[in-house]
Amino acid sequence: MPEDIFGDAVPPAQRTPRKRAFTDKDRRTLQERLADCAHNPDLYELAGMLPPPGRIGRPRHYPDVAFLFFLAARSVLASARRTAAHLEDPEVWTTLKAGIRAELGAAEAALLPEAGPTRSQWLHAQRRLREHSHELWDAYRPLALEQALDQGIFPEDETRSWSSPQRHQLIAADGTVLKSPTLARASQSVDMTTGEIRNHRVDPASVAQIEGGGAEVFGPKYVFFSARKDENYLSRVFLDSRYVPHLHPGGEAAVAVEGVIDIMSAAPGCMGTLYDGAMRGVHRDAIARYGGLVVNKQHKGNEPQFYETLRHGRCTHELWTANGRIAEKAHYADGSAELVPVTIKRLERRGVRTFRWYHVLAIPCRHGAHQFRVGIGTTSRKGERAPGESDEERGFHRAEHLQQIPEFTRTHQLVYPYRSDAESGHAQLDASLWNGRLISYGVEAQQLLTLGFVLAQNSTSRALHQGGPALLKPTA
Ligand SMILES: [Zn+2]
Repeated sequence: MPEDIFGDAVPPAQRTPRKRAFTDKDRRTLQERLADCAHNPDLYELAGMLPPPGRIGRPRHYPDVAFLFFLAARSVLASARRTAAHLEDPEVWTTLKAGIRAELGAAEAALLPEAGPTRSQWLHAQRRLREHSHELWDAYRPLALEQALDQGIFPEDETRSWSSPQRHQLIAADGTVLKSPTLARASQSVDMTTGEIRNHRVDPASVAQIEGGGAEVFGPKYVFFSARKDENYLSRVFLDSRYVPHLHPGGEAAVAVEGVIDIMSAAPGCMGTLYDGAMRGVHRDAIARYGGLVVNKQHKGNEPQFYETLRHGRCTHELWTANGRIAEKAHYADGSAELVPVTIKRLERRGVRTFRWYHVLAIPCRHGAHQFRVGIGTTSRKGERAPGESDEERGFHRAEHLQQIPEFTRTHQLVYPYRSDAESGHAQLDASLWNGRLISYGVEAQQLLTLGFVLAQNSTSRALHQGGPALLKPTA
């Protein structure tokens, strides 16, 4: 028998835990993280794209980059109050001065005040940044991708093996619900004893959402996209973050598909995504047609389905789909039957602009194994096959039943756990919020907050990649 390219899944008890011990590279002091931010050239790039402030308002003491630095620092320090307190210390503030000197030159650095902005100066500046949060994100996405490429993620010149993608060739993505800034779900409530009407501030971006574990969380949902080259905990590069509007058609997974395809279109070395069970057949179909892999788990309600009966002269083979792949129904003398997974010899990707995917199977037979090619990953639509033969017309949701990398295989066991990186990213985001709760109301403000978080994380990833910040350079 030829060997299955994906290999047999190893039973849980025999799997060696891959939890990695923390090393020095996983630890970063607050001061180091602030220096990472101050030396991130993307902060300066983003500051450069902001329109000059209007004439109205108080005279500006600080350049825009100082407030973008504050924004990233707030994510490191978890609150604006703490950030203002830290940056008002001239010694901490020299961190930014050193960054400006390195990025913009000594003359610019000399213009900087001796201490950081107060909290009220920050609140004032934040209003302006909020108005531009969409543009800032639009400008930042290509910069984040460029950083990822610089760090060896999605290399274009590397072999792409569709049956064994590497971690740095895949996007880890996941949706998360942040905790609403208030518990209020309605703008008014009536006190049942006094009849008094109370007004509440409500976050317009928040709704009641069910998280993966089944618990209800009230808040806005965002999908984050990241990738990494090496194992170091802080080396992850965040590529994007997108808001999932309430009642968005297709929900979180549809937003994720758009994000993944956008990244793939900009990074030819990207092979696809790791996602949880929220991505169903219709979402896999979109990414597979675009040429990408979706490594995820089968939906729990996915039951085996009859596929077709192969007849070869004197033998017949009854093929079903089960666990994301083709299985043969074996009938036993005692009347029982079993679905036996059929060996997959190859995973093929064919096409130029629109792609089709196949498993090349070896169906065992006493007359000699039959080679059989079966379409997987996408669900053909009416007009894409001979009349009456498309999946759509036959009512077969192929993308739901046949996975590119089937779930219960060794390859899936090895690759899918990289997805947990997306979850640890969410944990970092929660930790960057005061009491794990948002302070920002509305998508504009929240997207400014997610930008600060991603900037801070990516600053450290970049600094680690470059061998540490210029923190220890003597400050003149
Ligand atoms: Zn046969």
